[in-house]
Amino acid sequence: MSNFLPPSIQAVLPNIIQLIYLVATGIFIFGIKRLGSPATARSGNQLAALGMLIGVVVTLFDQQILSFEYIIGGIVVGSAIGMFAAKKVEMTAMPEMVAIFNGFGGGASALVAWGEFSRAVDPAAFATQDLVTIGLSILIGSITFTGSFIAFGKLKGFISGNPITFPGHNIFNALLTLGTLGLVGWLAYDPASQLIFWLLFGIALLLGILTVIPIGGADMPVVISLLNSYSGLAASMAGFVINNNLLIISGALVGAAGLILTNIMCQAMNRTLTNVLFGAFGGDGGSGSGPAADTDKTVRETTPDDVALQCAYAKKVAIVPGYGLAVAQAQHALKEVVDKLEKRGVEVKYGIHPVAGRMPGHMNVLLAEADVPYDQLYDMEQINPEFKSTDVVLIIGANDVVNPVAKTEPGSPIYGMPVMNVDEADRTIIFKRSLSPGFAGIDNPLFYEESNQMFFGDAKDSLQALAKSLDEV
Ligand code: NDP
Repeated sequence: MSNFLPPSIQAVLPNIIQLIYLVATGIFIFGIKRLGSPATARSGNQLAALGMLIGVVVTLFDQQILSFEYIIGGIVVGSAIGMFAAKKVEMTAMPEMVAIFNGFGGGASALVAWGEFSRAVDPAAFATQDLVTIGLSILIGSITFTGSFIAFGKLKGFISGNPITFPGHNIFNALLTLGTLGLVGWLAYDPASQLIFWLLFGIALLLGILTVIPIGGADMPVVISLLNSYSGLAASMAGFVINNNLLIISGALVGAAGLILTNIMCQAMNRTLTNVLFGAFGGDGGSGSGPAADTDKTVRETTPDDVALQCAYAKKVAIVPGYGLAVAQAQHALKEVVDKLEKRGVEVKYGIHPVAGRMPGHMNVLLAEADVPYDQLYDMEQINPEFKSTDVVLIIGANDVVNPVAKTEPGSPIYGMPVMNVDEADRTIIFKRSLSPGFAGIDNPLFYEESNQMFFGDAKDSLQALAKSLDEV
């Protein structure tokens, strides 16, 4: 296809292609760097997409795989599906979408390896290291594919969110893992054997299912982040298979980023990855599905007018958003309340816990959608020392991330998880529909504190009622 180029350019074309790959890699890295702050994240995402576009076009051109009509057609159709999905998906459903993308990424890498293996006239002609990378690409790509779709099914509720296990499950998985690694070695030793190839493919697909199915639905975001890392590794392996530097580098970037994110999530929940993968914790993670709290204790219920009075005459108010804010889509109503308070001269800050919601950065993205200025968002470490001097904390659909037992009860499943020190403020007001527990399924003693009031109801309705009451104060 590049035959139309003059011979002098054709001679240096491979170098030009590598140079363009280098530029695309630089763009990826720069794009990821810009994802580090909400202010630059949007442009970082666009830059990374540009890097991907360059990579796709140059690879297809270089490999002479398809005609330009197909390249352009593929880009248009693919972009249209991607844009439709991105616009349509709710923020709360983002983990599901990432799961599907990871699954397709892993599947694509496995297909690349399969294609390369099956088109060879004589598989024995492959170098041993090529056969190992083909085997690993099939293995990791297939695990990622089926594992991601199980994660998607658990989050969507197609598959029970409860851990599904059988006696000896972990040992069986360990044996299967060893078996697949053995098959990768065998494939490198005896590449002519189609049986080994298909056995490896089949067992790897099964392993993906059996690895994710025993994990509770509520832990799926961590699993998805780990599978994201796997999909990067699979892509990197596929890059080795077809000798493509861009795929190797971008796969390694995804692999490392997914692993770092998994680590951040585990640390913020004070849990080890082993506990997430083998601990069968958290059930289906459905909010409000757990047992109601101890009804012997009493709580103080409040009203929109009362909350409006307390906030309007406060000097400093802090907002702590959580998963319920996202479910209720209450970010715009919250912004309206905050705008009204600020007009009255009240100082308002938002405190964001690293795992508030169901995925990292969940709250930042939601609040950015409602045009909350970034400089009003404070990380947990920044806001925690400020609660002592805060008059009122509005806790909107958050539960675990403000639960003081994480600091006081060594037996609690969330003991050691860093939490927001809202109990140090003069008053707290919790917006939620009932006394039901959150993700971790445990009661929250903050509900019954003297200094706490409960504002029962859907977060959006409650905030809209509060905004109205503020007009009348
Ligand atoms: P929680 O799940 O602890 O609590 C959310 C609360 O929101 C519930 O108690 C629920 O109470 C309330 N709620 C639900 N719907 C509504 C609604 N429509 N209106 C008002 N309230 C509502 O959420 P947090 O954000 O406090 O904590 C996040 C939890 O998720 C942590 O345990 C964290 O470890 C975990 N997690 C987070 C990940 C992340 O990366 N962010 C990843 C994996 C897990 P009620 O039913 O009474 O309304």
